[in-house]
Amino acid sequence: MNVNLNMNKTEKNSIKKSAQLALCAFLTLFATTLAGAFSLPERVDFYPIAKDGEETPAETKFSESEEKSLPEKEKEKEPAPDVARGENAVFSPIPVVPVNDEKTAKAPIVTSGYETVSVFDVSTGKVAVMPFEEYILGVLLSEMPTSFEDAALMAQAIACRSYTLYKQNAGTYHENGAQLCTSPSHCQAFCPPESVSFARYEKAKAAVDGTRGEVMLFDGAPVLAVFHASSDGKTCSSEEVWGGKLSYLSSVDTAECFNPAMDITKCYTFSPSVFSDKLGVVPSDIYDIKLEKSASGRVACVNVGEKSVSGGDFVRLFGLRSNSFDVAIEAEAVVITCAGYGHGVGMSQYGAQDMAQRGYTCHEILAHYYTGVSFGKIG
Ligand SMILES: [Zn+2]
Repeated sequence: MNVNLNMNKTEKNSIKKSAQLALCAFLTLFATTLAGAFSLPERVDFYPIAKDGEETPAETKFSESEEKSLPEKEKEKEPAPDVARGENAVFSPIPVVPVNDEKTAKAPIVTSGYETVSVFDVSTGKVAVMPFEEYILGVLLSEMPTSFEDAALMAQAIACRSYTLYKQNAGTYHENGAQLCTSPSHCQAFCPPESVSFARYEKAKAAVDGTRGEVMLFDGAPVLAVFHASSDGKTCSSEEVWGGKLSYLSSVDTAECFNPAMDITKCYTFSPSVFSDKLGVVPSDIYDIKLEKSASGRVACVNVGEKSVSGGDFVRLFGLRSNSFDVAIEAEAVVITCAGYGHGVGMSQYGAQDMAQRGYTCHEILAHYYTGVSFGKIG
């Protein structure tokens, strides 16, 4: 397996992207300060951007009402213990053979946890034990449209495999003993491979088989490979969103906002009276609105008159896709323009698709979004 990454290509491109992002930063200049935003999901959700006619797995295709309820779901969650433990986390890792270490790779390590995964099906209430790679296939089918490029799907497969192994090693099992569940708002969504069309199955299966056993490592341990749908120019660090630092979850550039084929913005319109009512301020106050934004462009705080609302609370209040937004107050309407989808940490899936379309490999994509990781293969 070739895991020698051509980082020169990435570096060269990052220079180009820096210029583009400078423009983006200018355009979003209103925007910047800390985004304490979302409360902590235990895992990292993919909130797909459902476009007309686009293939999107049922498990992740949200109706408008479900979409609006997403921030509420996040609100209910407690801070992610995995992230909060940060880099001092203690692992009891399932042995992973670094793929670049030939000496180690020649000594196969028998693992006890990798072959299977116990999964709690939240729709049936039953726990199923299934082959690890079959589980990854079902997760991939649910977490990323198979209309995406092969390299993006392969990157997603490695990310899902890393996340799964991380959870298994962390031992944060469910009350019923399952290692993971099928809730997209808690662990990873899962779509039974036998329930999809042959074409979708074939494409996802190729991505899983083509990366079989591959995971991302940091300090020799599988990484918490969280991901999200899209970001507007920059991803967020884990520290910015959840307060716990994992250096491989740093803020990096992401270029999908420059791809005209990927419209990552959405506008929400409210009447001035509804807007002021939701915020609990008098109508005249809404003309005195100021947004404080973080370095990644997320809204940390919305100041309206004498009142301050955190970016995360504002997102939940108005049912936005992300905390990367601007607000325009007009005479007849208040328009919130929101960019990106999800918490913004780890790999941007639309960013991965954009990189794949520009010829990057799955390893290059992952090395871009997860800072400093190496690749290993489960022994
Ligand atoms: Zn779960």
